[in-house]
Amino acid sequence: MLFVDCLREVESKRVHDPFDETMKKNGRCVLVQGPIIVGAGPSGLAVAACLKERGVPSVIVERANCIASLWKSKAYDRLHLHLPKKFCELPLMPFPAKFPTYPTKEHFVDYLDAYVSKFGLEPQFNQTVESAAYDHTLGSWRVKTMGLEEISYLSRWLVVATGENSEAVVPAIEGMNDFEGPVLHTSSYKNGEEFSGKNVLVVGCGNSGMEICLDLCNNNAQPSIVVRDKLHILPREVLGRSTFGLSMWLLKLFPIHIVDRILLFISWFILGDTSRIGIGRPNLGPLQLKSTSGKTPVLDVGTLAKIKAGDIKVRPGVKCLTCHTVEFTDGTAEEYDAIIMATGYKSNVPSWLKDNEMFSADDGLPRRPFPNGWKGEYGLYAVGFTKRGLLGSSMDARRIAQDIEQLWKAEVKHLLPSIGHQCNHLNLIQVLNISMFPLAAPKRCIHPPVLESLSCDSCT
Ligand SMILES: Cc1cc2nc3c(=O)[nH]c(=O)nc-3n(C[C@H](O)[C@H](O)[C@H](O)COP(=O)(O)OP(=O)(O)OC[C@H]3O[C@@H](n4cnc5c(N)ncnc54)[C@H](O)[C@@H]3O)c2cc1C
Repeated sequence: MLFVDCLREVESKRVHDPFDETMKKNGRCVLVQGPIIVGAGPSGLAVAACLKERGVPSVIVERANCIASLWKSKAYDRLHLHLPKKFCELPLMPFPAKFPTYPTKEHFVDYLDAYVSKFGLEPQFNQTVESAAYDHTLGSWRVKTMGLEEISYLSRWLVVATGENSEAVVPAIEGMNDFEGPVLHTSSYKNGEEFSGKNVLVVGCGNSGMEICLDLCNNNAQPSIVVRDKLHILPREVLGRSTFGLSMWLLKLFPIHIVDRILLFISWFILGDTSRIGIGRPNLGPLQLKSTSGKTPVLDVGTLAKIKAGDIKVRPGVKCLTCHTVEFTDGTAEEYDAIIMATGYKSNVPSWLKDNEMFSADDGLPRRPFPNGWKGEYGLYAVGFTKRGLLGSSMDARRIAQDIEQLWKAEVKHLLPSIGHQCNHLNLIQVLNISMFPLAAPKRCIHPPVLESLSCDSCT
């Protein structure tokens, strides 16, 4: 049975049962034409724009009160895109030529605001998706959101765009509650001003941890960075060309292990032997490591020079904390005024998506490896979970839009002959989210015409 047929059946039952207690209890139910997209970050916006370009409507629901909340409210002040802009633009709209090669956070946010305006996207803000499950009877996804009101969306397609970074990860450390200084995650760090003159421990040595250490240095703090495991640090640029761009180019010519060797040689030449400052390199090369484990190499923006100059200390893993002291796994201990947890983020998908097939319950990422993780069963899609940043999001977004467009067109074709009451205002391409329940105001234009007997406000 088709989605609309089921809705017709369900609806006709409801028409005769206007005091349906279940609906009253469960709040408003909204039938979504086209897919429902969860998350108004760059990935969700990219899918919506690609769909719109193809004439397919969608509804975006977002838990925050703005688009791109990660960039607008959880990023530190000095953040720039880590990769050159040409690798970070979303589909259908390049960055303005006047933007620098590595746009600032503000540039990127301006670009996203312009993107939303260009495609006329209108996410539904302050709506946190609490659960989404496939209803086999209706042949649709039932997505429940919490916000000012509880809404149940029904959609034939569900696009998960909540990102790899939707929840901050803060590992439990013995004695954490005893530590008397501030302990904050990087998502709450803005700049180093408030840490001026202080001893600060940064736990975690990814791109954010490294850059925050540099920021602390520049604000006259004395930072130390915890480097527990081996890691690859590469120069951000080689002879004025981005290392990332160079790698992409080399990969067209050589196998990955040869490219890795070239990158390691260049890094050694430019940065020196990082093991001398306590940062050993993994056995696997940077690109092989990225493709097998998803671990991103750090692109150095000046932190390494500060470490070499002794302005930033490298420390081993943390064993435990007391009021002001941090004890390390090598038995040494040091006093700190504050701790910044640069311990990353994780996906929150397992907490709300009732699906055991497409996403792993362990890490909340699609089970199928890149480039096949974007599509699941029953109209379920994932965008932005490739561990390839915005470039991966753009690739996913284009594929998803293309796929849904085909299904959408097939569905629309099926629908058109069944339209009984076809008013001039009925435009299947334009219909977006039409509240169907409760049916307190029957004289509303309800599309698709599952309720053909009801007329459109504009017609009456
Ligand atoms: C500090 C930092 C720097 C980065 N720099 C780069 C870079 O230079 N280049 C690059 O390519 N990538 C970079 N990345 C990776 C970056 O996260 C992504 O490229 C980009 O933000 C991913 O977009 P997204 O839409 O997939 O996820 P997000 O930007 O995380 O957006 C997901 C959205 O979903 C919403 N959401 C989550 N759960 C729910 C829910 N249950 N209900 C409703 N809404 C929900 C969130 O509020 C959020 O707005 C960086 C990441 C960080 C943390």
